[in-house]
Amino acid sequence: MNDCLFCKIAAGDIPSRKVYEDELVIAFHDIRPLRPVHILVIPKKHITSLAHVGAADEPVLGRLLSIAQKLAAENGSADGFRGIINTGRIGGQEVPHLHLHILGGPEPVGPMVKHD
Ligand code: 5GP
Ligand code: ZN
Repeated sequence: MNDCLFCKIAAGDIPSRKVYEDELVIAFHDIRPLRPVHILVIPKKHITSLAHVGAADEPVLGRLLSIAQKLAAENGSADGFRGIINTGRIGGQEVPHLHLHILGGPEPVGPMVKHD
C-alpha cells in the first residue's frame, strides 16, 4: 500500500482545497499557508523529490513549472511569486513527494533565504 500523504491527496483519498488538475499535475492550497497565497503543485505520480528524477520525468517537471504563473495569477499573486522546491534533508523537505511551493500575495515575499 502506498502510504504517501500527497499520493493520497492526488487520489482524492485525503481532502484538499484543489485549485487545478490536469493529466500530469494537481495543485491545492497548503494547509499551513506561509503567505496569503501558498499553493502546492505536485506530480500525480509518486516522485519522492528532485533528487529522484530522470529524463523520463521531464514532461511532468516542465508542467510543474509552466503552470505556476497561471496558478499564481488565478489565486491572487498576478505580479509574480516565489517558487520553492525543498529537496531532501538539507533542503528541509518534510513531505517526501515532490512539490513546488508557490508563495505570493499582494506584497513582496521578501528575502530568499535569511543569513545565519
Ligand atoms: P516541505 O517542507 O516538504 O517542502 O513542505 C510540505 C508542505 O506541505 C508544508 O508547507 C505543509 O504545510 C504542507 N502540508 C503538510 N500536510 C498537508 C496536508 O495534509 N494538506 C495540505 N494541503 N498541505 C499539507
Ligand atoms: Zn507520493
